[in-house]
Amino acid sequence: MLEEFIHETRIAYFSMEIALHNNIPTYSGGLGVLAGDTIRSAADLELPMVAVTLVSRAGYFRQELDAECGQIEHPDSWQPDTVASSLQAKIAVNIEGRLVWVSGWLYILEGHMNGRQPVILLDTDVDENHDDDRQITHYLYGGDEAYRLKQEIVLGMGGMRMLQALGFKVRQYHMNEGHSALLAIELLRRYAYPKEDLRSGESAYDIPQIRELCNFTTHTPVDAGHDRFAYDLVGRILSEEFDRATLKRLAGEDRLNMTRLALNLSEYVNGVAKRHAEVSRKMFPGYRVHAVTNGVHPFTWTARSFIDLYNKHLPGWCHQPEILIRAECCISDEAIWEAHCQAKSILIEKVKALCHISLDPQIPIFGFARRMTAYKRPDLLFSDLERLKNIARQRPFQVVLAGKAHPRDLDGKHLIRTIHQHIQELAGDIPMAFVPDYDMEIARTMVAGVDLWLNTPLRPMEASGTSGMKAAFNGVPNLSVLDGWWVEGCIEGITGWAVGDDTESSNGDDAKSLYDKLEQTILPLYYDDRSRWIAVMKGAISKNASFFNSHRMMRRYATEAYIR
Ligand SMILES: *Cc1c(COP(=O)(O)O)cnc(C)c1O
Repeated sequence: MLEEFIHETRIAYFSMEIALHNNIPTYSGGLGVLAGDTIRSAADLELPMVAVTLVSRAGYFRQELDAECGQIEHPDSWQPDTVASSLQAKIAVNIEGRLVWVSGWLYILEGHMNGRQPVILLDTDVDENHDDDRQITHYLYGGDEAYRLKQEIVLGMGGMRMLQALGFKVRQYHMNEGHSALLAIELLRRYAYPKEDLRSGESAYDIPQIRELCNFTTHTPVDAGHDRFAYDLVGRILSEEFDRATLKRLAGEDRLNMTRLALNLSEYVNGVAKRHAEVSRKMFPGYRVHAVTNGVHPFTWTARSFIDLYNKHLPGWCHQPEILIRAECCISDEAIWEAHCQAKSILIEKVKALCHISLDPQIPIFGFARRMTAYKRPDLLFSDLERLKNIARQRPFQVVLAGKAHPRDLDGKHLIRTIHQHIQELAGDIPMAFVPDYDMEIARTMVAGVDLWLNTPLRPMEASGTSGMKAAFNGVPNLSVLDGWWVEGCIEGITGWAVGDDTESSNGDDAKSLYDKLEQTILPLYYDDRSRWIAVMKGAISKNASFFNSHRMMRRYATEAYIR
């Protein structure tokens, strides 16, 4: 099985989560979906990669909403043996002074253009391990800090050893977020000079050489979002031999900061949008932070009706999405509208089946779906219910929402409950549905089936955001706060619209701007000037889908990071 992959040197891409397929719950949200799109584009472009992640046998969680609209979390267990083959290798890492054995699975991601990429799913659930250790790779983002550190040891150090044991030849390493940064420590150990060759005071570690091998993509624009571990915890759990003074020099004196570690050991570092790179440069002065704006995988995120349309009028778009720039003149308004109506009816059916709510195909649908957490402000739309009702009285609209809150994010869970109260308060005035258990499949249906995609995060906390890019592939305009990718993607009235301006967020101003745009610009355009509305749909496709795709992103990583 491995033979076809180990003869050429590869880029090893490490990520705590990867969205491989809707039925494989090894992802929680945007970071994992991006990792999945990365591998899917690598397959289409035939870039030699190998991805490394955890098997997460119990998944993230399956979301159910109880009668009071509280979130209930169920394990989302899956059987790796149904889709992946067992690896004939076992390696060990040293945790809490004992050996923890790591085996794994080979999943082959098959692209729709015949490309194939190997994905290694690390698994500690093997007979040799204690019960506790068998669970290390069970729960994605589960457990406490100690559990997280153990997972990161398995991912970073275990992943490196597994690649070596399997015979992979690696030319570059890519850390998708800081979770895997211990891989760089493993590299330092591997290339360390033998002690007997050192003069006194000389370091055994060849830091410049390791930096040449490593690339790091940071995703978190707020300081508190970075993984940090107290050194007494590290001392207790990480029993691999490594000079502690060097570790502190690389990862921070007070605590082990995974982002610092990755920054110090990577020659190429980037943020995931231009704005995010600026914010990261301020957060980490002295580091050179490039910007590679995220993208989404064209084929995965385009609805069937638009795939057929692009295949007919713009053949080759799946390999070169730049060609979508011609959508504006090469596809008729009628054909765009027809493809949209098909995608919309699929969403309406799904909402009927999952929420028992009937939406009207003649009335515009606004979509909002993403992780339910405070900074994403899912409640901004509900800031003033009277105003919202008033807008709907003049020109009606409908809303579809979805999203999970992290099990320990109490504010996020509270938001889900508040939103449901608002939905009930608005019943009879504005039809609204909250679709439970947001996943890739629901995302795919929503980003294509709505008429307008909303995003209202608190600036500058949205590193990039990608769901709005998915909407663009389906001719759905965005109405969004100017943060993350939208700073680059928004051309007012051409590709969509901005909420507020480009300065510090304030809830009151943003809510007012959101309402004003809906009432005075967006709804009048939708109802009174359909051909200009379709022009904005085409603007989203030709100006945004042509650029904000993961093929462009991977071509940039290949030419600017991997080859240097
Ligand atoms: C695309 C996607 C996300 C990321 O959405 P953002 O709006 O960028 O936060 C999260 N979850 C799922 C299931 C997705 O498909």
